[in-house]
Amino acid sequence: MAKSPLLEKIEKIIAATGPISLAEYFHICMAHPEFGYYKSKQVIGAKADFITAPEISQMFGELIGIWCLDVWKQLGRPSEFALVELGPGHGTLMSDLLRATAIEPDFIKSAQITLVETSVRLKEMQQQKLNGHKIQWQSEISALPELPTILVANEFFDVVPIRQYIKRKQIWHERGVEINQQGALSDILLAASIDTALLPKGHENEPNGSVFETSPAREAIAQTLAEHINTHKGAALYIDYGFKASGFGDTFQAISEHKAVSPFSMPGTADLTSHVDFQALQTASQQSDIVAQDTITQAEFLLGLGLLERAGILGANATPQRQDEIRADVERLAGPEQMGELFKVLCIHSKDITPAPYNLT
Ligand code: SAH
Repeated sequence: MAKSPLLEKIEKIIAATGPISLAEYFHICMAHPEFGYYKSKQVIGAKADFITAPEISQMFGELIGIWCLDVWKQLGRPSEFALVELGPGHGTLMSDLLRATAIEPDFIKSAQITLVETSVRLKEMQQQKLNGHKIQWQSEISALPELPTILVANEFFDVVPIRQYIKRKQIWHERGVEINQQGALSDILLAASIDTALLPKGHENEPNGSVFETSPAREAIAQTLAEHINTHKGAALYIDYGFKASGFGDTFQAISEHKAVSPFSMPGTADLTSHVDFQALQTASQQSDIVAQDTITQAEFLLGLGLLERAGILGANATPQRQDEIRADVERLAGPEQMGELFKVLCIHSKDITPAPYNLT
């Protein structure tokens, strides 16, 4: 099999400087300007590598639109606010969200829509999908508009690199990537280790080989966004697969065409992700003087916002076949065996408001 162009680049880096950390490898694979994963190929969709909630059903983006509208009303209907999405993919969530909020024309008139996207290819798709709306793009979160902010990030944090530490003889060593004697990329334990004060409770009892994942990059993003919301007011919604509480376990994975593949075989051609530690995001957010709600499941969030009612309305005059599809979509989004429990939602917001569904008793 021909080598991927990124493999040659990574081999050169390792040959010159020695093994790299998993976080560095993750970052190069996803973000390399020429050969990184999101730069190169069609990645989201039934025929691509993975499918996301907005691509499953329009109801997902519509309900988030209703959520945004409620936040905007609670903020006092500001005549200028930032409507931000991180990692908007094909632009489907934003498109469905904007359609649902059209019942209050002042919402869209007041919104400075800001999409944070690093992939030129996906930005072009977003431009097409959202044609007709005034939108600004940014490649980083560092320069969000200095305005009240309503922000959504679906399946964004899982692509932000992690570090892994693996326990061996009482020491938690950082996982790295080297070139083995056969000339292939492979695992290595680096000399670097982690301060045990940063490990979850119970680390002393973990067996050799146990894995701890941490993502300083995700936490830094969560901290920046919480501070932004503290300064300007507003709310942010983080939706992703992951855990409510920090723990141990290896969730680093490479997915290509809906199948798990070796993360080292074809760098830049498979989606690298890991499960999101929502407790870490919550703790990072709480460094600002805002509210970080307890993490809930996607099922609790969507059902709380009225998924079943929305499905009923969509299906009311539909053909029996379409009604079956809508039922199946509800099941995929909120069913416990599907996305309903694996996916979690963290909402942070300024202290003056309480977004749905947290304000419903
Ligand atoms: N939210 C979309 C897409 C999820 S895929 C959906 O639910 O369908 C991840 C998205 O994050 C892609 O749009 C990808 O290009 C973008 N992305 C990845 N790393 C990023 C980064 N560091 N900054 C901004 N966007 C990023």
